Amino acid sequence: MFNCEMIPAENVGVKHAKWDREDGYFVPRDCYNSYFYRVEDTTLNVIDKFRLHGKKYIERLTGGSALHMNLEEHLTKTQYRQLLRVAAREGCNYFTFNIPNTVCNECGCIDKRYLKQCPKCASRNVDYLTRIIGYMKRVSNFSAARQVEAKKRYYGKLEKEKEKEAVLC
Ligand SMILES: [Zn+2]
Repeated sequence: MFNCEMIPAENVGVKHAKWDREDGYFVPRDCYNSYFYRVEDTTLNVIDKFRLHGKKYIERLTGGSALHMNLEEHLTKTQYRQLLRVAAREGCNYFTFNIPNTVCNECGCIDKRYLKQCPKCASRNVDYLTRIIGYMKRVSNFSAARQVEAKKRYYGKLEKEKEKEAVLC
């Protein structure tokens, strides 16, 4: 068994990378994260990620290895159910779906989609809400290094069953 406590490392991931670099290790990025893959990797699909966080790997860990399934948009109930079946089949017992929400800095509108422009007032002064373990947080409140990493994250996409409106303002 490997003790692999993966801290929700908003700041610690940045510190560890800095400390490793100071100790002379090769550190190709300014912050670490708790995924089993590079966040910017566009070659892995949704199924690959469940597999990487599935039984074959996590059975050798003491815990704390959550899959953050980053998706570009919310799925239909049928699609979520299918992914729950995938998780069960792969033995991935600790995961979350993460779809960035758009928040308008001008009018406060929150939209469940990942947009460049506010759907209510058309402002381009928008920020994004993304899920940390247990709560949502503005990406602009991330540390500088983590914001760079967040911009690189690849959000997977499934085939759409239908267009959905999901505005909360
Ligand atoms: Zn707005």
